[in-house]
Amino acid sequence: MDRLTAQQRHKNMAAIRSKDTKPEIVVRRGLWKRGFRYRLNHKRLPGHPDLVLRKYRTCIFVNGCFWHGHHVDTTILESSECCKIPKTNRDFWVAKIRRNKERDKEEQRKLAKMGWHSITVWECELKPAKREETLESIAFTLNHIWLQDHGVKVNYRTPPEEEDKQLPMAAEDNEIKR
Ligand SMILES: [Zn+2]
Repeated sequence: MDRLTAQQRHKNMAAIRSKDTKPEIVVRRGLWKRGFRYRLNHKRLPGHPDLVLRKYRTCIFVNGCFWHGHHVDTTILESSECCKIPKTNRDFWVAKIRRNKERDKEEQRKLAKMGWHSITVWECELKPAKREETLESIAFTLNHIWLQDHGVKVNYRTPPEEEDKQLPMAAEDNEIKR
């Protein structure tokens, strides 16, 4: 028996739909809408980046918080807000997440050697409440990367200090900065 009103049902459906939108799709749509063009799952690049933006020489990885151990320290590996390590078979999960994190780092290192930038986007940053902010920040980061890579031309026109003011620097992923 269906006791939901049409309105309630509509609400539920909407909730389910947005919940079901895969993080990767959210990033794709958000960037496409902002005019960025990309290729998907580039098999020949290390780590098979989810999105590859050749013009920006940038790979984007959309990471699940659990599998890639978001906010989890590789040496200690204690659960974090968005990566709860199961108590059962804890050693197995710890080893698995640690391996994934090390692999992620290694792949981004390889990409950097090949002249590619990497941006990591975390699943939790794509929840509806944070989504737009995150996508804006990715767009800023991409523009910043482009300007940096083509720095000479830009610096001719604007003094460096003014350029800084005009371009809020979006947080490129911590993993890369380290
Ligand atoms: Zn997270």
